[in-house]
Amino acid sequence: MRRVKSSFGGFFPNDAKKRTAQTPIEILKAPETLVVSLSQHAGKQAKPVVAKGDEVLKGQLIAEADGAISAPIHSPVSGTIKAIEPRIHPSGDSIPAIVIENDGEEKWIELEQHLEPVQLDASTIREKIRDAGVVGMGGGGFPTALKLEPPEGITIDFLIINGCECEPYLTADDRIMIEYAKEIILGARLMAKASGARQIVFAIEDNKPEAINAIKAEAGALDVVVLPSKYPMGGERQLIQAITGREVPSGGLPYDAGVIVNNVGTAYAVAKAVRDGQPFISRVITVSGDPLVESKNFFAPIGTPFQYLIESAGGFKETPGKIVAGGPMMGSAQFDLDSSMGKTCTGLLALAKGESATPNVLPCIKCARCVDVCPANLLPLKLEAFGMNEMWNEAYDYGALDCIECGSCNYVCPSKRPLLQYIRFAKREIIAEQAKSS
Ligand code: SF4
Ligand code: SF4
Repeated sequence: MRRVKSSFGGFFPNDAKKRTAQTPIEILKAPETLVVSLSQHAGKQAKPVVAKGDEVLKGQLIAEADGAISAPIHSPVSGTIKAIEPRIHPSGDSIPAIVIENDGEEKWIELEQHLEPVQLDASTIREKIRDAGVVGMGGGGFPTALKLEPPEGITIDFLIINGCECEPYLTADDRIMIEYAKEIILGARLMAKASGARQIVFAIEDNKPEAINAIKAEAGALDVVVLPSKYPMGGERQLIQAITGREVPSGGLPYDAGVIVNNVGTAYAVAKAVRDGQPFISRVITVSGDPLVESKNFFAPIGTPFQYLIESAGGFKETPGKIVAGGPMMGSAQFDLDSSMGKTCTGLLALAKGESATPNVLPCIKCARCVDVCPANLLPLKLEAFGMNEMWNEAYDYGALDCIECGSCNYVCPSKRPLLQYIRFAKREIIAEQAKSS
């Protein structure tokens, strides 16, 4: 095991993880109705292969991938398809979803198991991961099988298994490392075989001592690296730089530095897919915050409505100021608890009124704190001004597309300026402009 320091910006937040860090994962009983969105991954929405009234088994394919950057979706329960219709999505948009009435019988499809999965060849492993609908669980939702197939001519030196979980409040990755270390190690070995990676490195922040010990106990000769608990250590570029000293070029991908990064939850899902033949139909989610009666880590079926997750944590003991899907730094505010949990949903937070009051925005005092903290070496105050004044060329020239949307600049700004909101606006416009001219 080795310890590394980090050289990029970032900051040391109050991690607020105590509520759930010692709380074992609880297997959540599936609700009566599940709402399974067709958009739970990067790329195109999946295409339904079932119709209203169809009976489905647990693990049955209900929507197929639409093109290379997309992923199939499977039924998290056995039951009946009640509807295929637009439903509110955690992004705030209305997106088609498959509504399933759970029959409570847990009738599975037939599963194809492999007792020696590491003996399978690379393309068979990738095929099983693809067919199981595994996508990056840290938030991006990029189809994992695709990530494991680097473009021709590129050699992968490092497969980094990301157990940093640097967002405050969240403990889903911490608990899965403690409780399912064996599966995570197996998933890592399978991903290394599938991608041809020469070396596996586990990256864990130093605020997770139990998880570090659990992974070390199973990792054998594999490298386990302990990093400072600094936000946003879990960002791909930051992790690659801290562990390998390599830089991902502006506009490039981790491949360009000879690295693939995958989350520990994804490694678990890969092991279940290849060894047990189980499609990706459930995940660990942290449900936490002072307004809740209890804070919990659940293994919950994909498609579980947020309202049901809140009720399963005992409901509210006080009115929350804000509900967030994901972590408090990069998550999205929720205005409707009818949304449901997707494959990339790491957390559901109820923030107290005092934690979520809308601040008074003051003029910039040119203190440069946002510059010092930016892990991507950007000038957030400049990018905000470009976004506000719709100066897309200038925003592009100043590297807006390299912003990883970590929210650190917003967090440290004494004037409480909405820097990230304007940077996101600029990024969206630049990407739309690029798409038009390509
Ligand atoms: S500009 Fe982007 S990358 Fe830099 S601190 Fe702000 S949100 Fe993070
Ligand atoms: S942190 Fe806020 S006040 Fe300071 S330079 Fe950046 S935008 Fe201006």
